[in-house]
Amino acid sequence: MSAAAETLPVASSARTHSTPAPAPAPSARCPTGKHIVHWFRKGLRLHDNPALREGLNDAVTFRCVFIIDPWFASSSNVGINKWRFLLQCLEDLDNSLRKLNSRLFVVRGQPADALPKLFREWGTTELTFEEDPEPYGRVRDHNIMSKCREVGITVISRVSHTLYKLDKIIERNGGKAPLTYHQFQALIASMPPPPPAEPAISAQTLNGATTPVSDDHDDRFGVPTLEELGFETEGLRLPVWIGGESEALARLERHLERKAWVASFGRPKMTPQSLLASQTGLSPYLRFGCLSTRLFYYQLTELYKRIKGVRPPLSLHGQILWREFFYCAATRNPNFDRMEGNPICVQIPWEKNQEALAKWANGQTGFPWIDAIMMQLRAEGWIHHLARHAVACFLTRGDLWISWEEGMKVFDELLLDADWSVNAGMWMWLSCSSFFQQFFHCYCPVRFGRKTDPNGDFIRRYIPALKNMPTRYIHEPWVAPESVQQSARCIVGRDYPMPMVDHTKASQINIERIKQVYAQLAKYKPQAILNPHNLQRPNVMQSSPSPTSIITNINQSNYLCSQTPDPQTASTPQPVNYKDDVFQHPGNNNLRRDGKQPQFKQVVIVQTQNANVGPEAGSDCSNRCSPNPNFIMNGQLDGQYKSRDNQSPQEQNKQDNYNFKNLAINNCIQDYSNTSEYQNQQLTKDKEYQKDVKTNNFGFLKPKFYLSYGDMGVVQNNISRRDTARNDFNKEAKNEPAKEKSEDDQKCADKSTDCVRS
Ligand code: FAD
Repeated sequence: MSAAAETLPVASSARTHSTPAPAPAPSARCPTGKHIVHWFRKGLRLHDNPALREGLNDAVTFRCVFIIDPWFASSSNVGINKWRFLLQCLEDLDNSLRKLNSRLFVVRGQPADALPKLFREWGTTELTFEEDPEPYGRVRDHNIMSKCREVGITVISRVSHTLYKLDKIIERNGGKAPLTYHQFQALIASMPPPPPAEPAISAQTLNGATTPVSDDHDDRFGVPTLEELGFETEGLRLPVWIGGESEALARLERHLERKAWVASFGRPKMTPQSLLASQTGLSPYLRFGCLSTRLFYYQLTELYKRIKGVRPPLSLHGQILWREFFYCAATRNPNFDRMEGNPICVQIPWEKNQEALAKWANGQTGFPWIDAIMMQLRAEGWIHHLARHAVACFLTRGDLWISWEEGMKVFDELLLDADWSVNAGMWMWLSCSSFFQQFFHCYCPVRFGRKTDPNGDFIRRYIPALKNMPTRYIHEPWVAPESVQQSARCIVGRDYPMPMVDHTKASQINIERIKQVYAQLAKYKPQAILNPHNLQRPNVMQSSPSPTSIITNINQSNYLCSQTPDPQTASTPQPVNYKDDVFQHPGNNNLRRDGKQPQFKQVVIVQTQNANVGPEAGSDCSNRCSPNPNFIMNGQLDGQYKSRDNQSPQEQNKQDNYNFKNLAINNCIQDYSNTSEYQNQQLTKDKEYQKDVKTNNFGFLKPKFYLSYGDMGVVQNNISRRDTARNDFNKEAKNEPAKEKSEDDQKCADKSTDCVRS
């Protein structure tokens, strides 16, 4: 078995420490011998549970424990659906243990406090648990192991949440987690296959080991109810997903019966039906460990061999290997779930906008496709993979320009399958912050929805206000004539919100912003990573994508971009064939007419001082909202920029206000047609420059980067160049604005596909 035991031999470990601590005296009820506690965290199952199985060898007693931290239970970070799912898993585990004349012990407290007390009470000699691959769990387990060592308790932990022991993959890669899936695949292809799943714990496995159960077991250690955990359950709908190992195994069987799925290797396909929770879905079960990944892996392999008569290709296990990939990327990175301090995450100056975030999280964006998905997530705790793409893109690089961390937290609260590593990894991916840097497309919240749910049944199911809206308008009800809205009994702006953003404009600006970030980073790496022809389609999981070369390179340059920038290498352009109408294309500015690599243009940052989130309900904003007055353009260029190091907190705060806070994200603010309201007089006096602004075009001569980066990013290095940058900017703004304005640039600005209006 490849899993490494982390057994701490009682005597020897005690000997290497200063004073050998006495082993706990067995309580009166425990005869001498081996008395084990198995600590369930994830891995809520009796099948493929190697740590418990090994602990049971020659054990006299065994107790299976799950610890609920009451503080954690009362926090709002975990939604009620998820708690209910967990409690169902525990009930199921308790039932299975009863069949073995045992019980589950649900303990209230914090592990570091609760466990030692129980060990003393029960005379425990050995603790077993499944190895937790995530950094938080690793630290927690390390602490528990130290405590156990102090009192002479042996600890056995075994790998069974992932296919492989992740440290081995990392070791094989020279001590670094592979950051491309391709590299990851190559590494595991060179390793022995994952260990097979172990059989379920049975009476035979117990081999006479018993569980002392007291009369007050239910009172002290029973599985709590939602009410006992402080949840309000009145009106709670029946669960769509039932937690537990029994359900997981039944689902696995059904899953495998779907031979068609196997034949097509389960690539996510978007049909209206697949948007709904299915009886074969497995992700929450893999997340809680009700289902063993290795069992899934090997049963799939067997089925394939049976049907096809040959060994399966690696792609058969693509989905599970993606899971493994993210676990591997995260296992040694405690900052994997955040941007700052995360060495694999591009630092992007995201917007902070609580109101917009709340609209997104509560399904109030005014885009039925986005809102229906978010309503489904809230109600049921699961959404389809591509639905996740749609809402994640909308929140981040597509429309709202809000940090992926915010979206990840909402998913974490509501998704039953939310997994620390996979969730953060996918959010970084979707927001082009890591693993994947394709920012030339973004999903259109209208056309993507229309393609996937042409009749709007999915929308009607989750947004009752739109149930009578004719199919023609269901994806963009704001364009429905008033008479249609009236007969559908849904006045947009009253019964259903107006769209909070002009998607076309927002997405074009955001694509430019992302391009700028990457163009800036690309200066520090010699490869042509910005070649728009190296497209990866984000709507399909690639069997061998080549993400993250930029991250890898940035990592190699220590992420501070301190060396002299390399000139960006131009590559020969290939004809681009955009077919998929699901995507919003960034206009024709990817390629210049002369066939040269496009210049990346300066993003003009427009801020409003009195930020408002979007059109008020009822206002007609999708086409004509006039901008809020008091704009600042590229505020940080007005001479007030200072290094953060020398700033007072007030100044920093002020600086923060310049750094894209309240950046225009809605159609009101992004309507560049009204130039008379810009505050910066110097700029507004410049007619030519105004013209640029009007057409939403940017600087032309050379790339300019005035974006603000976080502490880990390039900001420090740029500070010293800021004056030069400012001078360049002013010079350019005053004297040379229209100098190189190509027809393409103009067209690009004019030819935006305005799906809000279409
Ligand atoms: P299937 O398609 O049948 O796949 C089986 C299993 O493979 C899944 O249960 C999952 O464990 C794994 N898997 C599938 N796709 C992926 C993937 N792209 N990356 C990693 N593992 C994968 N999946 C999670 O399990 N937990 C998460 O927290 C999570 N967060 C996500 C966040 C975003 C923004 C996005 C776009 C995707 C996320 N996914 C996450 C991946 C994927 O959406 C779900 O795994 C999938 O929808 C689960 O549905 P299923 O059970 O039908 O899985």
